[in-house]
Amino acid sequence: MGPELVATISPPVSAVRERLSALRRDLHQHPELGFQEVRTASLIAARLAELGYTVRTGLGKTGVTGRLAGGRPGPTILIRSEIDALPLQEAVAVPWRSRTPGVMHACGHDANTAIVLTAAEVWARERASLPGTMVLAFQPAEELLEGAAAMLADGALDGVDATAAFAVHLNNEAPVGTVTLRSGPVTASADRLAIVVTGQGGHGAFPHLARDPIVATAHLITALQTLVSRETPPAHSAVVSITTLKAGTAFNIIPDTVEMTGTLRCSHGELRERLLASLHRMAEGTAAALGCQARIDHRLLTPAVVNDPALTRLAWDVAAGIVGDPQVVELERQTGADDVAFFWERVPGCYMLVGSAKIDGTPVGQHHNASFDIDEGTLAIGLELLLGVVARTHGTTRAAPRPA
Ligand SMILES: [Zn+2]
Ligand SMILES: [Zn+2]
Repeated sequence: MGPELVATISPPVSAVRERLSALRRDLHQHPELGFQEVRTASLIAARLAELGYTVRTGLGKTGVTGRLAGGRPGPTILIRSEIDALPLQEAVAVPWRSRTPGVMHACGHDANTAIVLTAAEVWARERASLPGTMVLAFQPAEELLEGAAAMLADGALDGVDATAAFAVHLNNEAPVGTVTLRSGPVTASADRLAIVVTGQGGHGAFPHLARDPIVATAHLITALQTLVSRETPPAHSAVVSITTLKAGTAFNIIPDTVEMTGTLRCSHGELRERLLASLHRMAEGTAAALGCQARIDHRLLTPAVVNDPALTRLAWDVAAGIVGDPQVVELERQTGADDVAFFWERVPGCYMLVGSAKIDGTPVGQHHNASFDIDEGTLAIGLELLLGVVARTHGTTRAAPRPA
């Protein structure tokens, strides 16, 4: 006998458990890439409409929102789920594996979506006694880090005066039956960097007649390492990675230009501003010292996800009631990114990770891997958690859970 999953699941969640799993498997079989989630979006829209939600579609191409006003006055709460899959050929031999060649739900967005859509059903059923308004945002293209901004640009939150927001994401780095939370910065901001160093090309044997952008670039890449070691406060975190480098055509020709791209990740918006300014100074100064010029382009893909401390405390409490306090773990700060950050900039939010790795010793793939597979026990826990934090935000508690 291996370890057993221990979680207390309430009767309303137990009652929808099978449908929740069936919905997740259906979404898993029909994965769609970012901004192409046509089937997924229409399934969500149809279900929300059937449940009595006011539905908006076509937000950021394929995003959907649903709004449900409860029978009693209360706050507006925003829930966000992402709906896109990844360009991978699924390597997991389950009956519900992807039916679309080369596309796979390898990050668990099928599960996240199924959890929110099933919660939508519970809120609709309890509508008369629901205090306040639920706004559900089903976001496309999270993996491209473009969907949230696109939805918001299309007015997804116009007229939505939400005071709290939540999102649930699976976490295959932790066993099912654990919940991982962090107050404050959770993920890093992500910028795409593009730098072009321009000198003057010439004969490889006569470097004194040229201005060599390759040597300038070598100095620059080395100098950029000091952005983290010398300019980032030790208690904060940043990453600078130069990841592509293009230059030259032959062994005996000094090229005119070197092009590089890379990424900057920062734990705080303020740090990002400072490091971008330093990046400009360093690139321009280093290039100039070697007789070249540097041009820097940077594009913010997403800010850092910053969890609201009060909502995180509330979520911690609710999670402890479901999986037990020792199973609620503090998340280490991540250098990955999630564009839910754009929503959290508008509404104080809490991004919650539910463990989804199997505990029977079966190997599970990491996120973004063709062998990504989950323990479906995570679905009921994610749903219980989502319903719980909403109830707690409303100042009520859910019916006493009983052991699963
Ligand atoms: Zn992902
Ligand atoms: Zn994801």
